[in-house]
Amino acid sequence: PPPEALLEVKGLVTAYGRIEVLHEVDLTICRGEIVSLVGANGAGKSTLLMTLSGLQPVDRGGLVYAGADLTRIPAHQRVAMGIVQVPEGRQVFRDLSVHDNLRLGAFTRKGGVEVSEDLEQVYNRFPILRQKRDQLAGMLSGGQQQMLALGRALMARPRLLLLDEPSMGLAPLIVEEIFDIIRELNGEGITVFLVEQNASQALAISDRAYVLEAGRVVLEGAGRDLLEDDKVKAAYLGI
Ligand code: ATP
Repeated sequence: PPPEALLEVKGLVTAYGRIEVLHEVDLTICRGEIVSLVGANGAGKSTLLMTLSGLQPVDRGGLVYAGADLTRIPAHQRVAMGIVQVPEGRQVFRDLSVHDNLRLGAFTRKGGVEVSEDLEQVYNRFPILRQKRDQLAGMLSGGQQQMLALGRALMARPRLLLLDEPSMGLAPLIVEEIFDIIRELNGEGITVFLVEQNASQALAISDRAYVLEAGRVVLEGAGRDLLEDDKVKAAYLGI
């Protein structure tokens, strides 16, 4: 069957005050895909993610999610619909325990047995978090905090995970581990939209990718094809 769109971004314009940052961005994320967004500092990648998660309002254009208009839906409702962002810099609650950070990830849910089961699953996936469940999140290493941020997102039962620079500031081995986890989650049916500076690794695990330059999509294609693209190589892969 042909791929089915999970999220469509149509002619999206986002501005801070009078300064337009995204200029009529069009892109589609299909069910089951890993799609990455590559671009230089300041291209508007984080702004796009914040607009998708509802933390930044849409100025013009629209968003369609699972066939329904998402454009004016508030952020907390988007979480309940399965759109869950892992923000840049992890943003764990440093003064709360690992366990409480995870429980907060389920804030849009009713609680009870299902949430406890999901907590158990997160601890099984990230044994280090079980080991540190009563420690303050601020005491974790960068990689552990990224795992906590992912675990917290999983507690919301995402259908679409929005990941902002998950490998930022992490040692190469940990980066590998994070990319493996992203692939694993995708294999379990979670659609992934990935913003990365680490373009070569992002493209390597992506079905498709978009290149954003100064708030415009300038290139799109299969992850593998973009890895071989001369312009992408020169601008983003340091080749
Ligand atoms: P980075 O990798 O550095 O985060 P990015 O591609 O994610 O870059 P954005 O953070 O989305 O880019 O920023 C896009 C543009 O919007 C930049 O010119 C930035 O200075 C500007 N910008 C970002 N946040 C704000 C804000 N809250 N108010 C005003 N301008 C902003």
